Amino acid sequence: MNLLDKLIQSLNKTTESIQPQPDCWIGNYPNDTHYGDFCRSCCQKHVDTLLSGFHPATEDDVKSTPLDKSELQAIQDNPPFVDGGWGSENDRLPICITCGCWITSVLTDSTVISELEHYIQNANSLDLSQPNQAYGLLIVLDGVYSEESIALQNTLLEKLKFSLF
Ligand SMILES: [Zn+2]
Repeated sequence: MNLLDKLIQSLNKTTESIQPQPDCWIGNYPNDTHYGDFCRSCCQKHVDTLLSGFHPATEDDVKSTPLDKSELQAIQDNPPFVDGGWGSENDRLPICITCGCWITSVLTDSTVISELEHYIQNANSLDLSQPNQAYGLLIVLDGVYSEESIALQNTLLEKLKFSLF
């Protein structure tokens, strides 16, 4: 078994308890404001908040600013709903922006590359016995296909090989 297979096997073991939630977002957010990615239950809460006439607050369930007249009209014409629920492409690590749980998503190649660069720079402080850190690395490695990302992956493996096994 090569180093990469060994690493992935160990990451899979460390992250056994992590169950990523389906990636959801708010469909028909009034006036086309993009709002971000959530797990299903946070997304549903935000849709309910919108339907009650308020913009959802990102961090918690506190109702923030009321919708203005054109936004109220917009949600009447096109009611917001929980959209998604399948894997999407993401340009950042896929985490529900409200509760912080992992959501299922595929990383874009440029994200994979910038994350690998980050891991290479911080290889010494990486703690792969922590499920969240291990899971982050696992989904980055899962997105390695391009030539540039394969080269970076090899550099990272070279850096990690003494600390890993
Ligand atoms: Zn959530």
